[in-house]
Amino acid sequence: MTVARQVSSLAGTLLLASLSLHAQAKQVQYTVEVDAAKSAVFHITMQFTAQPGTLRLAMPASTPGEIDIKNHARYVMRLEAFDQQARSLAVRRFDKQTWLIDVQKSGTVAIHYDVRPNTRDPLRLGTSWLQENGGSIEPASLFLYLSNHLDLPISLRLKLPSPWKVVSTLHSDGKGTFVAADYRRLLDSPLQFGLLEERTITEGNIRCRLVFDAPLPPYDALTFDQNIRKIIRSELQLFGRAPFDEYTVLFHWRPDLDFGGGIEHGKAMIMNIGKKWMLDLPTNMAGTFAHELFHAWNAEAFYPRDFARWDYARENYTSLMWFVEGVTNYYATLTLVRTGILPKEKFYAMMSNTISSYENEPGRGFVSLRESGIAEWIRPIESLDYYAGGEVAGFLLDLEIRRAAPNRSSLDTVMRALYAQSERADYHGYEEQDLVKLVNESAARDLAGFFDLYVRGKGPIDYDRLLRDLGVAVGMKVEQDGKTYSLSPVDSMTTDQRTFWQLLLDSAAQGS
Ligand SMILES: [Zn+2]
Repeated sequence: MTVARQVSSLAGTLLLASLSLHAQAKQVQYTVEVDAAKSAVFHITMQFTAQPGTLRLAMPASTPGEIDIKNHARYVMRLEAFDQQARSLAVRRFDKQTWLIDVQKSGTVAIHYDVRPNTRDPLRLGTSWLQENGGSIEPASLFLYLSNHLDLPISLRLKLPSPWKVVSTLHSDGKGTFVAADYRRLLDSPLQFGLLEERTITEGNIRCRLVFDAPLPPYDALTFDQNIRKIIRSELQLFGRAPFDEYTVLFHWRPDLDFGGGIEHGKAMIMNIGKKWMLDLPTNMAGTFAHELFHAWNAEAFYPRDFARWDYARENYTSLMWFVEGVTNYYATLTLVRTGILPKEKFYAMMSNTISSYENEPGRGFVSLRESGIAEWIRPIESLDYYAGGEVAGFLLDLEIRRAAPNRSSLDTVMRALYAQSERADYHGYEEQDLVKLVNESAARDLAGFFDLYVRGKGPIDYDRLLRDLGVAVGMKVEQDGKTYSLSPVDSMTTDQRTFWQLLLDSAAQGS
């Protein structure tokens, strides 16, 4: 680790001190103690070696890929520091999320602090929580980092009440200690603990661990597992291979919520199961599962270059959120019909809903898709949903590529190329121009104009004109609560048009 690398990895945020650690610090050890019967907080100890100087410790304000300032430091309490002789060290608050600690003598430094779970976050997807029978750890919400030592290896030990089990995607040394190569990998590895129920299913050479934090009301577990297998198989078939051998799903039973939802990590997802999902759990969870699993490629394996050097202290802007989230949404929709979990005809209804939702957004006509992800950090009132907008753009882009290179290329080809690029040793993310280049190569035509119109542009979209020659009519009604679009395949569809849609919607044909 060189000083130059440390500074560049922090996007130029720091010039302050703590080079004192450089000579000795080999790793950072965290211990988390939970005693749910006695207190509703996480007790944390962080230990490392340091030389005399000023240390800079911080809690993340933001985490990779999440367009949200979480200010995890809000929930930190009773932060104290001690030297190797257990003498108290002076701790000074530097800014809302950073503390400075003066170290007089070289040796081990121990930081003790508590973190109270953020009970204001009803979804608890990007935060840690505790309850009587267990809890979960979102590392960004618990672990302080040494500002210019993010590359140090990490070890983590949990002290939990005795019958509780813990599940994590972190590597375990087999003696109750988890290890991570660096802070970023620690943040990408949620942990779940408590009276857990677990089963493992396999699809091809992929093991998928299904971990439940509580027993669910009765549901069709056979169809549930089959749907998970079908989705893994379909997404694997698209990409050809996966960036993992084992994938973990941490399910949270949430009878206090009507619906569910999820959040992705590199080799895991967290999924809430709300009570209305129990009406048909295997179908209701499938869209979320397909979306979050797709992120293992689109977001985790390949990602916007802006995310390659995440600065935890602040906002990290990218104009590509429409591709990260919206195109993932498009593939979740496609996966549901390609796997047969939903009938193929449903695709047109789902795209109709997405287009209606996008066209009724407050920012539609005034904000471009590429701007929407940048503005999202402040939740503007003139918002434009890049999930819906990106799904629409992904759909239209897929049609354009398929039209340009009939039966040869598609957006699938672009996704595979992005994944192949990410496997290169020197990979550090893609930019919009890389995307345009891959699209042009796949289509064997210059489609840069598509990006000008639908990604950078703000103008109206003539959906009927774009879909008519493919045998799909687009209707639009303006009612009191906005515009409603409807896509319907025409009865007089030609054989070529039928083949076009079959290639797009059929799992067996998606290799194109
Ligand atoms: Zn997502």
